[in-house]
Amino acid sequence: MDNTTYARIDGITRAALAGTPMSADDGRWMIRLDDDYLPWLMAGADRIRKTFRGNEIEVCAISNVRSGNCSENCSFCAQSGHHKTAAPTYNYISSDELVAQAARARSWGVADFGIVSKGWGVRTEKERAQLRDYLGTMNERSDVGRCASLGALDKDTAVMLKDMGLENYHHNLECAESFFDQVCTTHTYQENIDTIRNAVDAGLRVCAGGILGMGESLDQRIELAETLRNLGVESVPMNFLNPAKGTPFGDRTPLSPQEILKGIAVFRYMLPRAEIRIAGGRQFLGDMQSMIFMAGASGIMIGDYLTTKGRQVEDDLAMLDALKLDRRGDTQQRRAQRQADAAA
Ligand code: SF4
Repeated sequence: MDNTTYARIDGITRAALAGTPMSADDGRWMIRLDDDYLPWLMAGADRIRKTFRGNEIEVCAISNVRSGNCSENCSFCAQSGHHKTAAPTYNYISSDELVAQAARARSWGVADFGIVSKGWGVRTEKERAQLRDYLGTMNERSDVGRCASLGALDKDTAVMLKDMGLENYHHNLECAESFFDQVCTTHTYQENIDTIRNAVDAGLRVCAGGILGMGESLDQRIELAETLRNLGVESVPMNFLNPAKGTPFGDRTPLSPQEILKGIAVFRYMLPRAEIRIAGGRQFLGDMQSMIFMAGASGIMIGDYLTTKGRQVEDDLAMLDALKLDRRGDTQQRRAQRQADAAA
């Protein structure tokens, strides 16, 4: 450990606090730093988070409305019809079930709730009708923020979803373009970029990030962050590969807690103003889960993921309370009530 390294980290932190995000060159240097420097990186990332995101944490949850047997061959995904996995297969859940799940998420203080469907876009009249029904029912019966993740979007479909009342569109790039051919060959990286642009043009807020730990290089993690920055993405979900049995990436070794925290901190330095929300793979942090916020995360997905169980919601909410972090969309009144209930 040497003072020159600390001084360089401090200089990058000061620049980020003043509004200049970390360069890709500095990112490639920072992500290679020895774990001994991690507390220093996290201290800087925490200051950047607080400066640009305040004390509010965005909490979201999802519903997997249609699962399994997907046409695409994403190598990490248990829902792909190209792999033999134990993921559940079912067609659309009912709108009543969706709204019940949204109400449960709202009771947790969740601000945004995502309708997530396997597949690659909204292509048939049946799919359009189902989404019209979902969003119409949510508009009538829920005040939760409405998100969707449905695969590729062309311009017309993006406008249609916006007109149906959708607010946010989630579409991960998954990884750097230079690694994408090892992740998926049934669609292109350009389709992902076009989808993000079409959603933005339609007036949807875009949530786009990726998965670390799929076998990409450290430079490719920086490449992904730089691409997201160049696209002007406001909300960046970060996932960490949870190797699913039966998928091509099923035998990959999960990232260590230190690698995960360093990845989050480096993304915060590269994307100082973005919402950085931590989703799948959080369990690999073990006892260090609460450190994601000190590493620069400003959002968290709670509840279950697409094909895997999440941590107990009560534990996540208790963690946010213990850290004295506010939830966007949660009211002080509801928070006080929950604390009173917990004490009773
Ligand atoms: S990530 Fe999405 S598009 Fe890819 S296989 Fe899974 S469900 Fe299909």
